[in-house]
Amino acid sequence: MKISFNTEEILIGGSWRKAENGATLEVINPSTGEVMCKIGRGSKKDVNDAVKAARDALDGEWGRMPAVERGRIITKIGEKLKQYEDELTALETRDVGKPVKQARADAIAMARYMEFYGGAADKVMGHTIPYLDGYTVYTLREPHGVTGHIIPWNYPMQIAGRCIGGALAMGNTCVLKPAEDAGLTALLFARIAEEAGLPKGVLNVVSGVGAEAGAALASHPDVDHISFTGSVGIGKEIQKAAAENIVPVTLELGGKSPQIVFDDADLDAAIPFLVNAGIQNAGQTCSAGSRIMVQRGIYEEVINRMAEKISALKVGPSTDDLDVGPLVSAKQKDIVDRYINAGTQSGLTIAAQGILVDNLPEKGCYVKPTLFRDVPPDSKLAQEEIFGPVQVVIPFESEAEAIKIANGTEYGLVTGIWTENGARQMRMAKAVKAGQIFINNYGAGGGVELPFGGVGKSGFGREKGFEALYGFSVLKTVAAKHD
Ligand code: ADP
Ligand code: MG
Repeated sequence: MKISFNTEEILIGGSWRKAENGATLEVINPSTGEVMCKIGRGSKKDVNDAVKAARDALDGEWGRMPAVERGRIITKIGEKLKQYEDELTALETRDVGKPVKQARADAIAMARYMEFYGGAADKVMGHTIPYLDGYTVYTLREPHGVTGHIIPWNYPMQIAGRCIGGALAMGNTCVLKPAEDAGLTALLFARIAEEAGLPKGVLNVVSGVGAEAGAALASHPDVDHISFTGSVGIGKEIQKAAAENIVPVTLELGGKSPQIVFDDADLDAAIPFLVNAGIQNAGQTCSAGSRIMVQRGIYEEVINRMAEKISALKVGPSTDDLDVGPLVSAKQKDIVDRYINAGTQSGLTIAAQGILVDNLPEKGCYVKPTLFRDVPPDSKLAQEEIFGPVQVVIPFESEAEAIKIANGTEYGLVTGIWTENGARQMRMAKAVKAGQIFINNYGAGGGVELPFGGVGKSGFGREKGFEALYGFSVLKTVAAKHD
């Protein structure tokens, strides 16, 4: 299938146009370091126009459309996304450096979000409430109105899919601000949604810089809800901006998620997950299972088996579709290199590193997957989200100690528990602070059905699954007196 769009244009009220004054940002392919094209650099004025268009769309046919029809359009977007899977995959592979298989998985997931939320649109119901004699009381689930979505560069398609899909299902209109380093698939997504019949102005996309278009969107007085996925620091800024307007926010801010491996774990099942949950997407994953906690009895065995796999991992250009691609940008490579250096300078031991393939482009953003062992739980590498292919291994003795270490960071996004002991599985699932717990697996294949979000500095609110629809809507209570 062929579809064309001008990467330098933004989408406002159904019109594709240049950002104010024709401002643009360069798009860099991190596999080569070369500029591949430009995207629009939206301004505050562009955001104002987008919010106005979203408000008008809400007051138009979208606001009156029966839920079933909204659902059909969202489902149709999903079908179209599937038709354009190759285009979306190719674009993402070059824009953010994802190996082809991973980019394709994201494209498929975005389509699946539309399928899920298209089907869910007409299934969110209110309640009737038993009350005093002479009253009938019921609740309605209504859209917030205009929703702002500020998303990161690590899973651009999946995150756009989950937040736009959920928001549209509830009848909201949307302004989407993709990340500086990942604007292309958001624009193509909007182009495809248009082709699927989404009315004008329901989805507006303003690409640009966080401190400009992002800040303008987060602080806009006519935005009714903000969903944000990104760093803790910017999450705070978003919440402060929204607080000025008393606007609800959903914040998904990453983590330092443990995978806890007990002596009785099925290691054949566990080892691939212990490795992959840290190196998938070159470790640039909010839910990366990057703190590997291992009970003493199997400690050396786990390290040896992980080391064997990690030293065989190949890192190279995304189009070669190897185990690991480049990081998204030179800036991100620099951050991760600094963590690895900090680890070695503080005397930590590297148990294994992956292989950079030969003849890599000099300006490519490559980092070797790295496994650190015997990492103190309170050290920088065990506490901070690295957002690169770096796994740390921490030993523990008892279940009580495992709980203490697992809960010993500021984050609480995901936890993996590996044990064959059923009672321990249940105890641990309760004791560990996290928004998602996986027992004898990690990530469950990413299921769009599974509510996702954090506690602590990982943020609050839930996206994904049916649960997200409550966040993307507001409850109204109606009490009718009729005696
Ligand atoms: P990362 O560090 O992973 O790039 P960020 O939290 O910086 O994550 O970015 C996530 C998203 O937030 C991006 O779309 C970015 O443009 C946007 N952003 C960055 N700074 C701001 C800001 N001050 N206000 C609103 N959005 C911002
Ligand atoms: Mg890029």
